[in-house]
Amino acid sequence: MEQIGHWINGKHVAGTSGRTADVWNPATGEVQAQVALASKAELDAAVADAAKAQPAWAATNPQRRARVMMKFVSLLQRDMDKLAEALSREHGKTIPDAKGDVQRGLEVVEFCIGAPHMLKGEFTDSAGPGIDMYSLRQPIGVAAGITPFNFPAMIPMWKMAPALVCGNAFILKPSERDPSVPLMLAELMQEAGLPDGLLQVVNGDKESVDAILDNETISGIGFVGSTPIAAYIYERGCANGKRVQCFGGAKNHMIIMPDADMDQAADALVGAGYGAAGERCMAISVAVPVGDETADRLIEKLVPKIEALKVGPYTSGDDVDYGPVVTPMAKENIQRLVQSGVDAGAELVVDGRNFNLQGYEDGFFVGPHLFDRVTPDMEIYQKEIFGPVLSTVRAGSYEEALKLAMDHEYGNGTAIFTRDGDAARDFANRVNVGMVGINVPIPVPLAYHTFGGWKKSVFGDLNQHGPDAFRFYTRTKTVTSRWPSGIKEGGEFTIPVME
Ligand code: NAD
Repeated sequence: MEQIGHWINGKHVAGTSGRTADVWNPATGEVQAQVALASKAELDAAVADAAKAQPAWAATNPQRRARVMMKFVSLLQRDMDKLAEALSREHGKTIPDAKGDVQRGLEVVEFCIGAPHMLKGEFTDSAGPGIDMYSLRQPIGVAAGITPFNFPAMIPMWKMAPALVCGNAFILKPSERDPSVPLMLAELMQEAGLPDGLLQVVNGDKESVDAILDNETISGIGFVGSTPIAAYIYERGCANGKRVQCFGGAKNHMIIMPDADMDQAADALVGAGYGAAGERCMAISVAVPVGDETADRLIEKLVPKIEALKVGPYTSGDDVDYGPVVTPMAKENIQRLVQSGVDAGAELVVDGRNFNLQGYEDGFFVGPHLFDRVTPDMEIYQKEIFGPVLSTVRAGSYEEALKLAMDHEYGNGTAIFTRDGDAARDFANRVNVGMVGINVPIPVPLAYHTFGGWKKSVFGDLNQHGPDAFRFYTRTKTVTSRWPSGIKEGGEFTIPVME
C-alpha cells in the first residue's frame, strides 16, 4: 500500500505519529494509499523550521520572489497532464475538470508575478516640513492554509502563492481525502527555486489543525471548507490572536425569469448543478423559476438533459460529464438527504437512486437527481448536499425569488437568467450574496478580482486572491521620517499638525 507522508524542509518525510487515514480511488472504491496524520509535535517542528527560513526570504527582493512564481507557472503547464491524472485518481472528477482545477490555481500564481507592483506601498513626499511619510507592506511571518478536498490544486495555490510571494513562510494542511497533488505542487515550487523550509506540507486531520490554531509562531490562517469547521477555526484562531479568514459552505440559487432563454438556462443549470458531481462551493443547487409556467417549461427542458448525463470514471476520458463523489461517507450523506426530500414530499422528477455503473459497482457514483416543488422548510433546501442533486423551488414573483436567496443562511454565489436588464441590475444590487452571475451560472471571479461569499459562507473581512490576498498576507507599517535641520531647534511640546 502506498504511504503518503509530508513535505518538510524540501524533502518527502514519513509521518511519525503512527496515525493514518485511507485515501480512496473513488471510481473503483479501492483504498489506494494511506496518508500520515501529523501530531502536534510534527506540526510544531515544521513551523519552527519555516520560521527559521522566513527572514532571508522576506529580505529577498520581490522581483526575485516573483520569478519563482513565474517559473512555477511554466512547471505547472509542463506537468498539467500528470497533475490532472493524480488529482482525478484521488478526487474522482473528470480529467478536463481536473485540468480546470489546476488552471484556476495557476491563474492566481500568474497574478502573484505582479507582486513587486502590489507590494509597493504608499509614499507622501513632504507631508510636513522636511517630513516624508511612507507605508510598507511587510510579510506577516509564518502563515498557514487549511484546505478542502474539492479543489486540491486550486485552493492550495490560492493560499500558498500570495503568502509566499509576499515574503512569508507557509504551512499547508491539505485535505486528507486527496493529499497527493499538494505534495506535487511543493516539489514543483522547489524546482521553481523556492528555498527549502518555506513551504511545508503537513498532512493531517483535527489534531494538526488544532496544532495550527494554537501554534504561537503562526500569525495568519486561511481556511476553506464547510461552515461548521470554518466557524470553529475562526473563533479559536481569533481567540489566539491570529489573523483568520475562513470560507465556508454554500447553497447557491439560480433565478430563472419568465423572459429567460430557457434552453440557455437549462444548459447552464445542468453544467452548474451536476458538474464535478455537485462537489463545488459555486455549484447551483437551487433553481428558482419565477411563475408556474416558467417552472413547467424549465423542467421540461431540464429532464432530458439530466437523463442524458454521462456518469463515469475519469479514465473514460472526455466522454464523461461527471465522476464519482469523493468517499463512501459522502455518498451515504447524499443518499440520506435525497431520501429526506422524498419523505418531506418533494417531487423527485429525475430519480438517480438506483443508478449503477457496470464494472464500477464499488465506486462512489451517484446518479443525477432533480427535485421539483421543494419548499424552504425541507432539509434538502436548508442543507448543503454537495452532490448531483438539484432542487427546484417555485417562486410566484421576482420579489419572492429574491427573498428566497436573501433569506438563506448561505451567501456564496447566485445567478439570474433573464433578458431584462432592469431585473438583472436590481438583482445584482440588492441580493446579499458575494458573487453574482447575470446569465452566468458559476460566477467565479478571475484571479485579479477577489473571491468570497457573504453571510454564513464567510468568516473574516478580506476575500481570497486578487488584491485582498496581498492585504491578508502582509501588514502595514507606516513610517514618518524627518531629516531636518529643525531638530537642532529643540524639542516640540504640542502634537505635530501637518499644515
Ligand atoms: P471540511 O470542512 O470537512 O474540511 C476542510 C478542512 O478542514 C480539511 O483540511 C479537513 O482536514 C479539516 N477538518 C475537517 N474536520 C475538522 C475538524 N473537526 N476540526 C478541524 N479541522 C477539520 O470540508 P470538505 O468536505 O473538505 O470540503 C467541502 C466543503 O468546503 C463544502 O462545504 C464546500 O462548500 C466548502 N468549500 C467552500 C469554498 C469557498 O470558497 N467558500 C470553496 C471550496 C469548498
